[in-house]
Amino acid sequence: MVNKTIIVSNRLPVKIVEENGEYLLSPSEGGLATGLGSVYKKGDNIWVGWPGIEVPEDRQQEVTEKLAELNLIPVFLTPDEINLYYEGFSNEVLWPVFHYMVTYAHFEQTYWDFYQSVNDKFKAVVTAQLNEGDTVWVHDYQLLLLPQLIRDAQPHVTIGFFQHIPFPSYEMFRLIPWREELIGGMFGADLLGFHTFDDVRHFLSAASRLSTAKVSNNVITYKDRQVVVEAFPMGIDANKFESLTHDPVVAEHVVSLKETMQECKIILTIDRLDYSKGILQRLQAYELLLETHPEYIEQLSLYMIVVPSRDTVAQYRELKDQIDQLVGNINAHFRTLNWLPVHYFYRSFPVEFLSALYYTADICLVTPMRDGMNLVSKEYVASRAGNTGVLILSEMAGASKELNDALIVNPNNIGDVMRAIVEAINMPVEEQKRRMSVMRGIVKKFDIHLWVKNFMDKLDEVKQMQESLL
Ligand code: UDP
Repeated sequence: MVNKTIIVSNRLPVKIVEENGEYLLSPSEGGLATGLGSVYKKGDNIWVGWPGIEVPEDRQQEVTEKLAELNLIPVFLTPDEINLYYEGFSNEVLWPVFHYMVTYAHFEQTYWDFYQSVNDKFKAVVTAQLNEGDTVWVHDYQLLLLPQLIRDAQPHVTIGFFQHIPFPSYEMFRLIPWREELIGGMFGADLLGFHTFDDVRHFLSAASRLSTAKVSNNVITYKDRQVVVEAFPMGIDANKFESLTHDPVVAEHVVSLKETMQECKIILTIDRLDYSKGILQRLQAYELLLETHPEYIEQLSLYMIVVPSRDTVAQYRELKDQIDQLVGNINAHFRTLNWLPVHYFYRSFPVEFLSALYYTADICLVTPMRDGMNLVSKEYVASRAGNTGVLILSEMAGASKELNDALIVNPNNIGDVMRAIVEAINMPVEEQKRRMSVMRGIVKKFDIHLWVKNFMDKLDEVKQMQESLL
């Protein structure tokens, strides 16, 4: 029998809509789905995850068959499970704590109960597909317990785990009531991957304090098994963003954007609505700039896209109201008859329009309070075909560890962010090109395909090392 690879994540890389009683499937075009496409679309390989909508029991067989044609295997979740495991434990416990926003966390026992039972449900679907020589690659914070659950069922299988969000300092992580169980769940993997070396350090520190495991360099020895922990900074599909700049649809958008914005320099910001993204602080920096540098009035505009996200949650609705209000105040205060300081959109856009924005924007302002990686910053860099443009990047984003030639800022320091905008506006073209070409080289080389390859190669190497120790 040929060994296969099983990718597991909370969501399948597919969008399902129900139209006139029929389920229609369209594959997702996100960077991760593209990168992992080279894995799950091959041979007997599969991807296991939640299909993203509630499917009544009597239609689950039909959806399963349709998904099977795309090598996808569903884990069907009930509304309670989505509510308590996903929105509850994942997004109201792990997300805020891992992003250092502990005051947003709700440590509810029922969230934890459902987190355990849904991880168990994923285990049942995965193990039903699993043979001894197979490899499993589990993704992200919704499934921290899954590696050990699979290990218990199939002790010799190869398991990799990658976390797409930060791993926080032990002082944050220790606040979670179920911290030992979470660490124990992750120990089931052979290889644990994070975006940055700091995440690795934090994980190793938590592991040594919360368990009897021995930690030496980046290897954890626990119950006669070795787990390797390493940084794999995730890349993007850089070629796609570079070639999009030659797409005729993108070119049309560029023309109309330039017409609308006229001679104004464009400062671009793109984020999902989230308190980790520092959207309010960024607006405050821009407001400070207009107050203290009136010479820039009518000379630049902030083009701000906020993609709707989790807006059924009170904290996210509140943040949205605060953003609306601050944008309203800035526009009301500073606008002139012919000029708007902030062009604000609360919606998502097709990738061709995003590409046109990346291509047109003079400055891209990325100032999260905390971000595992931040792909927008890399997409901007990949889209700067002429090597001009300035990236301002928060030191709290994983991407800042690679994109050293950005103007790096502390997003809490409003004055610092404002000064970086002034520096970006006045940066000589030669300096822009010098910085951007270095960053483009990095983004092009360390793309999503190399990321997938590096992780899979390392997982093979770790398994071989373990077998040689037996
Ligand atoms: N994005 C999108 N539609 C939009 C705006 C953004 O698909 O209208 C994409 C963007 O291209 C990027 C992703 O959303 O790939 C955001 O990733 P990032 O790592 O910056 O932040 P996350 O939302 O994952 O925290």
